[in-house]
Amino acid sequence: MSEMEPVIGLEVHAQLNTRTKLFCACPAGGSVEPNTHICEICTGQPGALPRLNGRAVELAAKATLALGGQVNGYSLFARKNYFYPDLPNGFQTSQLDPPIGTGGSLSVAAGDGGRKAIRLNRIHMEDDAGKCVHDEKRDRTLIDLNRAGVPLIEIVTEPDLSSSREAMEFLKTLHSLLVRLEVTKGRLEEGEFRCDVNISLKPKGSSVLGVRGEIKNLNSFKFVGQAIDYEIRRQSALYESGGRVEQQTLHFDHLKGETRALRSKEEAHDYRYFPQPDLPPVLVSRVKLREIVQSLPPPADTIKESYKELGLKEDTVTALLDRPGAQAYFEEAFKRFPEAKRLGTLMVELFLPALRQSGTDPQSAVMGPAKLAALARLMSDGVLTKKAAYDLFPELFETGADPRQLVEARGLSRVRDESTLQGWIMEVIAGHPEEVKKYLAGQTKILSFLVGQLMRLSRGTADPQKASASLTQALEDLRS
Ligand code: ADP
Ligand code: MG
Ligand code: ZN
Repeated sequence: MSEMEPVIGLEVHAQLNTRTKLFCACPAGGSVEPNTHICEICTGQPGALPRLNGRAVELAAKATLALGGQVNGYSLFARKNYFYPDLPNGFQTSQLDPPIGTGGSLSVAAGDGGRKAIRLNRIHMEDDAGKCVHDEKRDRTLIDLNRAGVPLIEIVTEPDLSSSREAMEFLKTLHSLLVRLEVTKGRLEEGEFRCDVNISLKPKGSSVLGVRGEIKNLNSFKFVGQAIDYEIRRQSALYESGGRVEQQTLHFDHLKGETRALRSKEEAHDYRYFPQPDLPPVLVSRVKLREIVQSLPPPADTIKESYKELGLKEDTVTALLDRPGAQAYFEEAFKRFPEAKRLGTLMVELFLPALRQSGTDPQSAVMGPAKLAALARLMSDGVLTKKAAYDLFPELFETGADPRQLVEARGLSRVRDESTLQGWIMEVIAGHPEEVKKYLAGQTKILSFLVGQLMRLSRGTADPQKASASLTQALEDLRS
């Protein structure tokens, strides 16, 4: 049998970052009691008429432009008919032809060290469905329509991807781009960025595509990778044993690490698309387009380069670009303390983890960028040791206190004064006779323990290098 190669195409859904839903004024998102963010329109009451959210159109156009696609000045909404209990209209309002965006591409690293462009087929707007919630206790299914009518864009690629690695890289790059543009909040665990993976195998070099499986609704990069690798193995085994791959919709069970068939082609939907008569064509003017183009931030690669020139490490740059709002925070702090490396380290090691833990975003942190800059300044001026700064950080983050005032109030300034240091040394030596004996007997490794005790005694204010040198001197003096 000839060697086979995988062919992969993605359909990515991103929830648009709007305040309200696509066709009504109900809030889009914000987890609340079921069925509280609903109205006549998003619950499909007879006679209720949709009104298009202009902000959603702008965001869809922005995504299209940032991806190098063409925004269609004229596009249409269509009804895509399904029968699902959580779809009160009996149809999804989507776009078929023409969609808001056509073409564009996004590149991933190719095996040969170069880049490979993944072409985009289309970008269209559509509304999300509600949710079925199963109530195990009473064995019934309830319906929550808060999500019904929330705006999405769907980005459909050409079948240009050829491995799980490429697919994951594509998705991560796309995710960080859309988050940076504030097109989506992109919270994966909330399903705000999710995708369907289409995958088939074909003989190497052949231009005829094989029959595909479509894995639905993955909302983790890791699961995308696992699902693709599993599906490649499953389809290969089928071909090798002389079987055929059926066109199927699949579900990935991440606990078992397997895909499972949901429905086969025989049961495939006929959506009976037709133009949505309740909505006029979507028009985007040239003036509007120009405005959006001007609002686009510089491409990520340009920002990355300029950050690297400032001396930031690759990981730091990625961390700043991936977290919405982190870049703006960094730049604010940088204006006040122009030593990028030290600031970047504080962001990555202290600030971003603290944000993650407390679930806040950079803009609403009580510790503003000026405070982080002040902390960095205290460290670089040699007033605060690294240890003292790191110990102090949780309090600064929580209270938003001024680092200078706090250091003053707590007496945390780095101690260089010799007599204070000597006092601590005497205390450490007196308090640890056993360890001192061991040191004098040649176990010099114990020195780091004793230095640690000294640092603790000084609450991190002693200069570690000086402390170590002076302590060694004092111990050596004991020998003679
Ligand atoms: P549908 O909407 O019915 O799923 P589309 O033709 O719009 O079908 O294709 C959806 C996605 O599937 C696209 O990303 C496309 O690139 C990909 N795709 C189509 N055919 C194949 C194939 N044989 N193997 C892998 N991916 C495919
Ligand atoms: Mg599909
Ligand atoms: Zn509504």
